[in-house]
Amino acid sequence: MDTVADLLAFLDASPSPSHAARELARRLAAAGFQALDPSATWDIAPGRYVLRRGATVIGAVIPSRRIRRFALIGAHTDSPHLRLKPRAAYACEQCLQLGVEVYGSALTHTWVDRDLGLAGEVWTRDGLCLPVRIGRPLARVASLAIHLDRRVNDDGLKLNPQLHLAPLWGLASNSGNSTDAGEEFAALIAAAAGITPAEIGALDLSLYDLTPATRGGAREEFIFSGRLDNLASCFAGLSALIAAGAAEPDVVQVLACFDHEEVGSESAEGADGSLLGQVLERLALGCGLDRSAYLAALSASRMLSADMAHAVHPNWADRHEPRHRPRLGGGIVLKTNHNHRYATDGAGAAHAHTCARRAGIALQDFVARTDLGCGSTIGPAVAANLGISCVDLGAPMLSMHSARECAAVSDQADYAALMREHLRA
Ligand code: ZN
Repeated sequence: MDTVADLLAFLDASPSPSHAARELARRLAAAGFQALDPSATWDIAPGRYVLRRGATVIGAVIPSRRIRRFALIGAHTDSPHLRLKPRAAYACEQCLQLGVEVYGSALTHTWVDRDLGLAGEVWTRDGLCLPVRIGRPLARVASLAIHLDRRVNDDGLKLNPQLHLAPLWGLASNSGNSTDAGEEFAALIAAAAGITPAEIGALDLSLYDLTPATRGGAREEFIFSGRLDNLASCFAGLSALIAAGAAEPDVVQVLACFDHEEVGSESAEGADGSLLGQVLERLALGCGLDRSAYLAALSASRMLSADMAHAVHPNWADRHEPRHRPRLGGGIVLKTNHNHRYATDGAGAAHAHTCARRAGIALQDFVARTDLGCGSTIGPAVAANLGISCVDLGAPMLSMHSARECAAVSDQADYAALMREHLRA
């Protein structure tokens, strides 16, 4: 399978953050990465290892027990979406509906009038965690007819997230009562998980757009898909880690794909938590280093924080800084923000240019307009928590945080090539 077809398959296999993490772990296991048990003590032999905690996955290639530094790639598995509330199912006006929260900064209007499936996890009362996916058109956030909102095209669509985003998922039975709706929903989810409704302990379910990831454009130069931010980066990192081959014998290559970036990264699994530092330290101690040697190795380490970047949009070209206008298909974007919303420092930027030169690819510079705010990434959190140099970069895209985003085919191979050079450098 060619790389882009494989990326499309990865996107389709990852409708929720937990599905993305399971798919990453599955692919790493298939490439010989051995699962680490977080609750055991680790005696590490040279080899390939993977740890999954919730929707966060950390993979590491350890060439020898003499660790001098880490070459890290960071990305995130989560994307903005609509997520079900605990008591989600109810009936209203004889329609079955689902209460949803907006996860992250979603472009909410892009979720309207789409055929939606459900994906996530179910916990049983016995503590089992089971993946669930209902991959058929189960739900729909229905728009309001223009006849009932005549000014919508002039005034813009305003969606109150509590009132206007609840999807329909059926017609209520004659009783029209919400207890029946809850029971019917529990039966639906239990059947999808292969358990009985009485076994359900808790649910964590997200809506997702059923339209498969695809190539588009006159010469198929685009990728259209949900969740390109940031699964395209996870995929490039995965390809790079599996294909990088050994660097120097004392460099540990690491890919960390975190959950919760879109909601600030501050969680047990997030980049602004202690998980990555703990895993790196445990790998080092497991190889026989002491804490002082581990901290010395950290000080010589660097992370490439991979997250998608804003290409200039032809309809809104004025939203970009006039002299920093990354274009789709123009190569990987190096992001700078001197207020440290991006972690790129001088050493990191120089390193990125060296890697790009070695990989034979172009880099494009991005900085936000001075009068516009700037997004952020996991980069600043990791740089602060571990005290390491970071560089923020990503493949250019349009429609970031839409249910259906757009990137260029040609940038994806460059992305993985740049990451391979970083892991080898
Ligand atoms: Zn992102």
